Amino acid sequence: MNNLLSKLPKVDTVLGEEVIREYINKLPRKIVVLTVRNIIDKYRLSILTKNLTDFSYEMVIEDIKLELNKTLKPKLRRVINATGTVIHTNLGRSPISINAINHIFEIGTRYNNLEYNLDEGKRGSRYSHVEEIICQITGAEAALVVNNNAAAVMLVLSTLAKGKEAIVSRGQLVEIGGSFRIPSVMEQSGAILVEVGTTNRTHLYDYENAINENTAAILKVHQSNFKILGFTEEVSIDELVDLSHKNNIPLIEDIGSGVLVDLTKYGLNYEPTVQESIKKGVDIVTFSGDKLLGGPQAGIIVGKRQYIDKMKKNQLTRALRIDKFTLAGLETTLKAYLDEENLKEEIPIFKMLSMDTNTLKRNAQKLAKLIKTYIQDDKIIVDVKDDYSTVGGGAMPLETIPTYVVAIKPKHKTVEELEKSLRMCEIPIIVRVSRDYLLLDVRTLFDDDYAIIAENIKNVI
Ligand SMILES: *Cc1c(COP(=O)(O)O)cnc(C)c1O
Repeated sequence: MNNLLSKLPKVDTVLGEEVIREYINKLPRKIVVLTVRNIIDKYRLSILTKNLTDFSYEMVIEDIKLELNKTLKPKLRRVINATGTVIHTNLGRSPISINAINHIFEIGTRYNNLEYNLDEGKRGSRYSHVEEIICQITGAEAALVVNNNAAAVMLVLSTLAKGKEAIVSRGQLVEIGGSFRIPSVMEQSGAILVEVGTTNRTHLYDYENAINENTAAILKVHQSNFKILGFTEEVSIDELVDLSHKNNIPLIEDIGSGVLVDLTKYGLNYEPTVQESIKKGVDIVTFSGDKLLGGPQAGIIVGKRQYIDKMKKNQLTRALRIDKFTLAGLETTLKAYLDEENLKEEIPIFKMLSMDTNTLKRNAQKLAKLIKTYIQDDKIIVDVKDDYSTVGGGAMPLETIPTYVVAIKPKHKTVEELEKSLRMCEIPIIVRVSRDYLLLDVRTLFDDDYAIIAENIKNVI
């Protein structure tokens, strides 16, 4: 042990190395010194705890370089999504359109009329910029936008049902991604949850029996990320609208994904749209901006003006308010919906979701060919195979869309090793692993991803 400890380099020795000195031009000297010290300390600890039985000077230098390289890169980075999951919750959900980003760029780098009414030359409201277009698209009387859909649900319940009862079917007490659970959000909002029905079956009379003078709302939640199949029963929107209006209480619907177009036109299964719910008479509908809407993270609330006006006055609105970047991105994204023909060109997720299998096959062949030109076939097996993509984002959990993938099997490495190496690249490449193959689904690739993938596979193989 003493032998090993005496082998540990001195900080100054390491700092004298040409390869380490180079970093002092790119990073504050303090950071470089601290990193060198930390890595040497880590080695010391490993020696003392007998986790390290030998090492070389070069290993220490390599580790320091690795750590310094990490420091140089931003923590939040672009990645390549080769998983085929279009709205990937872990990979930033929907990538937004170039036009939306250009608008964000201009608004963010200059002054803007965020809270200034240009017609009147006085203070204006940040919410006014998108309300009209949301109403135009959804057919709602009024709209309000907050940080995300969780915030939207919280604000709606806090405004309409705080200290009062809100009725929800037991089949709709959903959890979305761990942190959003309907019962917890309701508790936070101050609304009292009244569960009705059973997990698989809820009837109209369950709701009827639960209504009393303390009932403030009926809440319907879209089962975004799961399906109950078999012996099931749900009360239709029409019936809930009738019941709530007969009793003079608002019907709230958390529709989740925010579908604003008929998805069957894009070759997908039917999903209820916001417009349908509004048309049927639902009083308040909430949805996300960055799921199937294809925009930035946001929570959109639409519905009857009398309720929306109350929400605008709620103090919570200030805490949950949307910022100028999001507003800019959202406005541009929503504009694309005014010309539906254009959606596929304008909104990246629509382009991906509606890509036909011929195009996908061609693209997979293109990627396979590119990889083969970079790497000799004694090192790797490359095939084009048919497979399935998923929509993701807690939307359409059972739906799979036919796709083509490039299946790769390295000959001198395990698939797991290759997966990890690709994940560690300068631009990380996130893939699917299926039994003996590493799969690259071309549905979620952008044009400039192809060359990067081929080059990186060459490097890590
Ligand atoms: C995704 C989802 C939410 C949460 O929306 P965020 O925008 O992620 O806050 C809430 N309810 C339903 C039904 C959802 O699908």
